[in-house]
Amino acid sequence: MSTLHASPTRYRDPRARAGTLEVICGCMFAGKTEALIDRVLSHAPHRVQVFKHAADQRYHRSRVVSHRQRSCSATPIAHAAQLIDQIGGDVDLVAVDEGHFFDDRLPDVCAELTDLGIQVVVATLDDDCWSRPFPMIVVLQGMADTVNAKSARCARCGHTGTRTQRLTPIVDGKIVGGAESFEPRCGQCWTPPPVSCAQITRVASNTGPCVQQSS
Ligand SMILES: [Zn+2]
Repeated sequence: MSTLHASPTRYRDPRARAGTLEVICGCMFAGKTEALIDRVLSHAPHRVQVFKHAADQRYHRSRVVSHRQRSCSATPIAHAAQLIDQIGGDVDLVAVDEGHFFDDRLPDVCAELTDLGIQVVVATLDDDCWSRPFPMIVVLQGMADTVNAKSARCARCGHTGTRTQRLTPIVDGKIVGGAESFEPRCGQCWTPPPVSCAQITRVASNTGPCVQQSS
């Protein structure tokens, strides 16, 4: 993982208009995208823009879709900075799905939006399948006005699940996979993938966005 450095844009100018940042986080199958869609639909008919990473094409190229098949229209982008270019002048809510897919510019972009008085909601995994926090997401959580930490039901024992269990082998150092490759587990039932794969993935993640698919 790359090292994050403090940037002036992460700290709000007290003269700026006060938008808010909410981070909806947790393991896979915790209902993060479902909660994001709730925010978007409940905000209507106000001015909303939804973004997703262009690499996330599991269900639909230009829609955010939950496991319960609820969905909303979204703009696919490949880099966090593109989000600023795509914002309309009258938008008052920006929603971002799968925040962990994005590059390290995402916290700066969110700060720019909240300084403009925009309400920002980001749904994201907080940890990878080795239970390691995504550094960029830690920064985002520290900036947030609200952190909505969600959990799932452990697929093994039924207790509260806060970790993502990898079920299929990791190929070429990339942990891409659909729902069939992961399930939620509690700390007792969860087991990490091989350490050698973790080392490979850390190298791979320096050249692009985090690539773990989520719910
Ligand atoms: Zn369990």
